Amino acid sequence: MSDQLMPVYNRAEPVFVRGEGVWLHTAEGETYLDCVAGIATNALGHAHPRLVAALTEQAGKLWHLSNVFRIPGQERLAERICAASFGERLFFTNSGAEAVEAALKTARRYHAAGGAPERIDIIGFTGSFHGRTYATINASGNPSYLDGFGPRLPGYVQLDIDDRAALAAAIARPTTAAVIVEPVQGEGGARALPGEWLLDLRRLCSDHGVLLIHDEVQSGMGRTGRLFAHQWFEGTEPDIMAIAKALGCGFPVGACVATAEAARGMVAGVHGSTFGGNPLAMAVAETAFDEISRPETLANAQLIGRRLAEGLARIAADHPSIVVDIRGKGMLIGVKLAVNNREFMAAARRHRLLVAGGGDNCVRMLPSLLMREDEADLALERFAATVAGFAAMGERAA
Ligand SMILES: *Cc1c(COP(=O)(O)O)cnc(C)c1O
Repeated sequence: MSDQLMPVYNRAEPVFVRGEGVWLHTAEGETYLDCVAGIATNALGHAHPRLVAALTEQAGKLWHLSNVFRIPGQERLAERICAASFGERLFFTNSGAEAVEAALKTARRYHAAGGAPERIDIIGFTGSFHGRTYATINASGNPSYLDGFGPRLPGYVQLDIDDRAALAAAIARPTTAAVIVEPVQGEGGARALPGEWLLDLRRLCSDHGVLLIHDEVQSGMGRTGRLFAHQWFEGTEPDIMAIAKALGCGFPVGACVATAEAARGMVAGVHGSTFGGNPLAMAVAETAFDEISRPETLANAQLIGRRLAEGLARIAADHPSIVVDIRGKGMLIGVKLAVNNREFMAAARRHRLLVAGGGDNCVRMLPSLLMREDEADLALERFAATVAGFAAMGERAA
C-alpha cells in the first residue's frame, strides 16, 4: 500500500494488470469474475476489441483540441444521443460530477435567463449520490460526504423520497429551480423508483415551472436494459439529464443532455471545459454508443439482469438470515445483507468474485452488459458459496 496516495479509499488487495470481458487477471495469474465493472462503467467488459481499435486508431491521429475548435465527434455523438432521447442540447464533460454540475448550472441559468434569478433552490433526496464536488455533495446531502468541508452551500434542499407532501410544498416555493433525482439510485443501494412516483414528480415540476433533472450517470447507457432508465416509463422524461460512467466504457467522459428550452441560458462564455469531449474521448464514446444502443445489447442486459435477479432471489430464499432483499433494475442490482457488506465483499473476493459496495448495507452487481448466461451462472455460484460461508459461520456461532 502507498504512503503517498491520500488514503480516501479502503482499497482491496489484488492488483489487476489485465482484463478481457468479465474477467480480471492479476500478475500472479489469478482470475476474478468482475461484477463491479469499474462501478457500472466498463459496460462492454474489459478490452472490447472495437473500443481498443477506436482508441488506438484515434491515438495516432489527434488526441486533444480546445473546445474553441469544432470537434466533429462531439457533433455526431450529440446528434445520436439526442435522437435516442428527449435531448436537444448537449455539453460534454470528463466525469459524472461535472455532468451533474453542468446540469445544475443549466437549471439556474434557465431561470435567470427567464427573469427569475431568485429561483436557485435545488431539491435533492436522501440516499442519493451525485458526485464529490461541492455542488454535488450539497445536492445529495449525505452527511458523511459533507462533514468537515465547511458550511453547507445555500440553495440546496434535501427531502425524503417517501414524503410526498413535503415534496409538493417544496416544488411550489417561488425560489425552487429544479429537482434532481436518480431514477434508480446507485450508490444509495440500487433503489429503483416506481414509474408512478417518477410520473408524479414530472407533473409536479411541470405544474410549477420547476426543471426536472435526472441523474442517470449510473443508471443510464443501457444499465437497466433500456438506453436510459426513465425510458421504462412513458411521460417521465426530464428537462435535463446527466450521464457518464458507461458513456466512455472506462474512458473518462460525461455529458449534460437538455431540451432546447431548458438550455436557453447556456450561451457563449457561460460554461466550459478544457478536456470535455476531446477527440480521444469522442472516438471511444461514439463506438461505445454504437455497441450499447444495439437492440441485442439491451436485450442481453434485460435477459442477464433477470437471470441474476432470479438467482439471487433463490439464494435469498435459502439464506434469509444472510440475504435480506434483492432490489434494483436490469443489471443495476442491489443485495441487502444482514452481515457486514464490506466483510461480504472481502469473502466474495476469496471466491474470486468482485462485487461493489453500496448504501443501506448492500452489495451491488453491475457487470458488463455483454455478460453471457454461463458467466452469470458462475457469478451466482460464487455468490451462493460466499453466502453459504457466512451461513456456516452463523451455525458454528449458534
Ligand atoms: C458515479 C456517480 C456520479 C459521479 O460520477 P464521477 O464520474 O465519479 O464524478 C454522479 N451521479 C451518480 C448517480 C453516480 O453513480
